[in-house]
Amino acid sequence: MLLNNYINGQFVTNSNQELIDVINPATGEVIHQLINSSTEDVNNAVQAAKDTFPFWSGISSEERSKYLLSIAQEIGNRFDEFALAESMDNGKPLSLAKRMDIPRAIHNLQFFAHAATQFSSEFHDVPSNNTINYTLRNPLGPVACISPWNLPLYLFTWKIAPALAVGNTVVAKPSEVTPYTAYLLSEACIKVGLPKGVLNIIHGKGDVAGDYLVKHKDIKAVSFTGSTKVGSHIASTCAPLFRKVSLEMGGKNPILIFDDCNYEKTLNTVVRSSFTNQGQICLCGSRIYIQEGLYEKFKHDFINETKKLVVGNPLDESTNIGAIVSKQHFDKIISYIEIAKQEGGKILTGGEVRKPKGFENGLYINPTIIEGLNNDCRTNQEEIFGPVVSIASFKNDDDAIKLANESQYGLASSIWTENISRAHKLAREINTGIVWINTWLNRDLRTPFGGMKHSGVGREGGLEAMRFFTEAKNVCIQY
Ligand code: NAD
Repeated sequence: MLLNNYINGQFVTNSNQELIDVINPATGEVIHQLINSSTEDVNNAVQAAKDTFPFWSGISSEERSKYLLSIAQEIGNRFDEFALAESMDNGKPLSLAKRMDIPRAIHNLQFFAHAATQFSSEFHDVPSNNTINYTLRNPLGPVACISPWNLPLYLFTWKIAPALAVGNTVVAKPSEVTPYTAYLLSEACIKVGLPKGVLNIIHGKGDVAGDYLVKHKDIKAVSFTGSTKVGSHIASTCAPLFRKVSLEMGGKNPILIFDDCNYEKTLNTVVRSSFTNQGQICLCGSRIYIQEGLYEKFKHDFINETKKLVVGNPLDESTNIGAIVSKQHFDKIISYIEIAKQEGGKILTGGEVRKPKGFENGLYINPTIIEGLNNDCRTNQEEIFGPVVSIASFKNDDDAIKLANESQYGLASSIWTENISRAHKLAREINTGIVWINTWLNRDLRTPFGGMKHSGVGREGGLEAMRFFTEAKNVCIQY
């Protein structure tokens, strides 16, 4: 099947006729051809978004909300098709796409459809001076939303929904590695009669279409989720243009496990936080620090539980770990396992390529646990973004916080302790944008989401996203 752009309300092919193969990483088969957009295609998409902006920003938030809700409904109507598409593009277990990706994409659209109707701005009264101030929050215009391959529709809608809900028009680019659910989303928009030009979806490579979109003269803001390397490039492109940017980037998330944790819950959750989606969630914990009294027991049980994970056919209900998303990423993960060995790491389990029967051409890696590494080595400092974690012990709270904070990244952490004072104290001291205590990947969409240091700039989620996608204007009146 040929996956086309969705521009000005219809499917259109690209001007340069270049195509990209989309491969199912579970089997190695080419499943789609994707168009690789040119700068001319990006121009057409931005022009459509620009032309429609006065209309879309001028209708009521209730009307915009109805469109978003009907898109959510349409995804729900085709739930199984969306889930299968996500699994085949990405290699993730179908059960995970059904449990997490597609429900969350629907929820994103519903959440921001409702949130926009409740969005209000501030009023500041100065009676001593007979003055009132109020704040206008105007939509910006055409904005760019760029997303990665790990949670394709989940992260695509996470950006598009708030941008549209508050009255912007959007040009969005999904990852060229996993474009299929974005294509299906275009079909849903056509089906529900979303006015033309409100949402435009362009496909293709980041260094051409993505790069040109970011610097396009009519784009007012860029919301990006992806690697720190590309985020840094986008920041440097946008800085001289004084363009608003929101960057959600890489992570190397610490997990702190204390002697007094709720043991069974901790163990079960840490297996999930290490290997869900083949470890390819920006929020997965990859540096696991265990208090010394618990270290040997936890290590033993963690290895045993990890060995029970079923690696293989993503479409099989019993599969826990599917395929790695692409050959390029697979090679990167394998190279980091080699680096870990060179750095003196001992592989406790995994560390090797898996060839499940009947899926020999797929890209599978057994979930891998490594110990014996220094905190400052590459394996512990660089983002691997695969089913690879390292474990190490610590003595006390100070030791734990030092190890956790010794990182250029600062996205998410999770702390496992039944001591409430310690939990609050560490939550304040740890340098991550999200701190989970006795839980992981527990998301309330009203909360600010984002990272510190090289993990991000700005926050999305709830009011933060709607603030990002609007411009605040102070109106001051003396009566
Ligand atoms: P990536 O940076 O390679 O690509 C992300 C998107 O940017 C893709 O759509 C790509 O085509 C586009 N792109 C690439 N070069 C571009 C350029 N020069 N200009 C504009 N766009 C460009 O990231 P990836 O490999 O797709 O995703 C994995 C990364 O995403 C990991 O680092 C992971 O931690 C990160 N991530 C972060 C979060 C978060 O919320 N912080 C969430 C998910 C993934």
